[in-house]
Amino acid sequence: MKKKLGLVYGGKSAEHEVSLSTARAVTQAVNFDAYEVMPIYITPIGEWRTGSPLTSPAATIEELRFEGNGTDAPDSIAQFLQLESKPDVIVPLLHGTNGEDGTVQGLFEVMNIPYAGNGVLASSAGMDKVVMKQLFAQAGLAQVPYVHFVRSEWEMDNERLLDEAETVLEYPVFVKPANLGSSVGISKADTRDTLEQAITFALKFDRKIIIEQGVTAREVEMGVLGNDTPACSVPGEIKPVAAFYDYEAKYQDGNTELVIPAEVPEEVSDLMKNMACRAYKVLDCAGLVRADFFVTDANEVLINEVNTLPGFTPTSMFPLLWQHTGVSYPELIDRLIELAVARHTEKQ
Ligand code: ATP
Ligand code: MG
Ligand code: MG
Ligand code: MG
Repeated sequence: MKKKLGLVYGGKSAEHEVSLSTARAVTQAVNFDAYEVMPIYITPIGEWRTGSPLTSPAATIEELRFEGNGTDAPDSIAQFLQLESKPDVIVPLLHGTNGEDGTVQGLFEVMNIPYAGNGVLASSAGMDKVVMKQLFAQAGLAQVPYVHFVRSEWEMDNERLLDEAETVLEYPVFVKPANLGSSVGISKADTRDTLEQAITFALKFDRKIIIEQGVTAREVEMGVLGNDTPACSVPGEIKPVAAFYDYEAKYQDGNTELVIPAEVPEEVSDLMKNMACRAYKVLDCAGLVRADFFVTDANEVLINEVNTLPGFTPTSMFPLLWQHTGVSYPELIDRLIELAVARHTEKQ
């Protein structure tokens, strides 16, 4: 009997289209002799629609986008929950809110279905940059100084919060919504005026804000794969042409150069591995993460963040890092499914 593999993709998120591309790439890499692939599409307004099982790779993303009210397209989560034949294992290919933050992971837990990647705790702690940094500090990981606050505090006393930021940090600083990815809502500020603007902008995306010390450094990332005894990939460097690795640089301009393996001394790469594993442990990660670091001219290594559901198209950093480490894209998918099943079995 083939196992039923549920691919959950799309999503009510700014990264909807990226997720569709990922889903298509996964259908092209999956072993159809071993799996019956169930496409589970979440529309941009958050409706759940399942299509007929796939028997061959999707040729285009349009095949995976279920628009209408076709008979094989239940359009609510209730119908998904009542599906007669449930997936044996789910691979969530969602990014951002309602996908990367532990919410759908909680749904799969309640449904008692094994799912690839991080569980509820790691996903939600990893989504909130403030909580993540507080846990990193607990684990003794080097990182940039930061301040944080919520919208109501800002509305009550913005001058005091600006003073506090200027006391703890030096310009330039980076202002970020606490719960996002893909650089959405992030800006760099050099003065009190631009800081104020950057905060107002970031508050459009989230009620919680983090302001970080800006650093001049190389950006090096590492893939981590496994459950309790994870393995690290080779490091990879991002060389954005833009002022920083912003949304356009990630998805639109195509100018960003990825150097894999990154040219860093062995001590730096060993330190990154050690830090990536400690970050993995403190957040209680499972399956995978992409750990993002800053490496200064003096080869000081600071952890920036981990991404619990990193970009997963064949040209995304995470799969490329593993390819250079000797794990192909199809092998990576098999491995994530094995890890999902192993973790689920362990919990029973
Ligand atoms: P993603 O999840 O797609 O990696 P994100 O939205 O979680 O992105 P960050 O990775 O924290 O955001 O920041 C986006 C980019 O902004 C970084 O890759 C880097 O180019 C720049 N950046 C962020 N924080 C700093 C900082 N403290 N100093 C210098 N550059 C920074
Ligand atoms: Mg991130
Ligand atoms: Mg992200
Ligand atoms: Mg990042």
